Amino acid sequence: MAVGGRGVVDPAEPVLLADDEALVRGRGAFETIRVYDGAPFRLSEHLERLARSAERIGLPTVNVLQLKELAAQALEAAATPNAVLRLFWTPTPTALALVSELADHYDELRERGQRLISLRGIRADQPWLLPGVKSTSYAVNMAAEAEARRRGSDDAVFVDADAIVLEGPTTNIWWRRGRTLYTPSLELGILAGVTRAAVIELAAAAGYVVSEGAYPLAELAGAEEAFTSSSVREVMPVTELDGAPLGRGPAADELQAALRHAAEATLHP
Ligand code: PLP
Repeated sequence: MAVGGRGVVDPAEPVLLADDEALVRGRGAFETIRVYDGAPFRLSEHLERLARSAERIGLPTVNVLQLKELAAQALEAAATPNAVLRLFWTPTPTALALVSELADHYDELRERGQRLISLRGIRADQPWLLPGVKSTSYAVNMAAEAEARRRGSDDAVFVDADAIVLEGPTTNIWWRRGRTLYTPSLELGILAGVTRAAVIELAAAAGYVVSEGAYPLAELAGAEEAFTSSSVREVMPVTELDGAPLGRGPAADELQAALRHAAEATLHP
């Protein structure tokens, strides 16, 4: 289900003008938001990040009100209570809200745990490398996912030239030793995940210490457990890294339950 400035979009009709740079050069901003029981989780934080991304790539100021209205219309029209909401903002500017069904294999993957491979990514320490920007130029991230699958894994984790752990193509990464949870620092130029921020709060409430920094891949490989966080996949355990098994532990399950609980609490405060 798609809703644009002209209302519910007919899939047969073009949504973007042919010269919109989001289409021709991938210069658009977007957000992917998890919808629980019809309600988008942490929508304001996603809209704030969308506004920051748009500003960083020189788009007109995001019309937050318009996007909120489109999101509400799209969710109502889609009538899919547990879904994924995508919001786009482009140079012309065009606002677009898309609702899609949640892939049904995530719970199965959570049960089994993900296999990851490490791939070389970039440590985005220069502003023109767009650190932390969610732009529609995501072809490299999608190619990394495809490469992971080609090699028989589920997903990738990017590391820089010095093997410092960064993030996944659409996830942030975490691991645990004792009661400390480790996750790469935002100073490495990774995306400030909305779920990452939620997990930081929930971890503290569950009695974990969270340590953010620049950590070599060997630290992740030697962890007691590891997991990823993202709006769509939520907290997802990692059970293999570059072909070597990783242990399972309580933190991923505890934090997944806490995340669902937090989502529930926003629905029925
Ligand atoms: N890192 C990257 C590169 C992403 O694209 C995403 C989400 O798509 C994330 C991390 C996780 O962010 P969030 O928790 O806001 O979904």
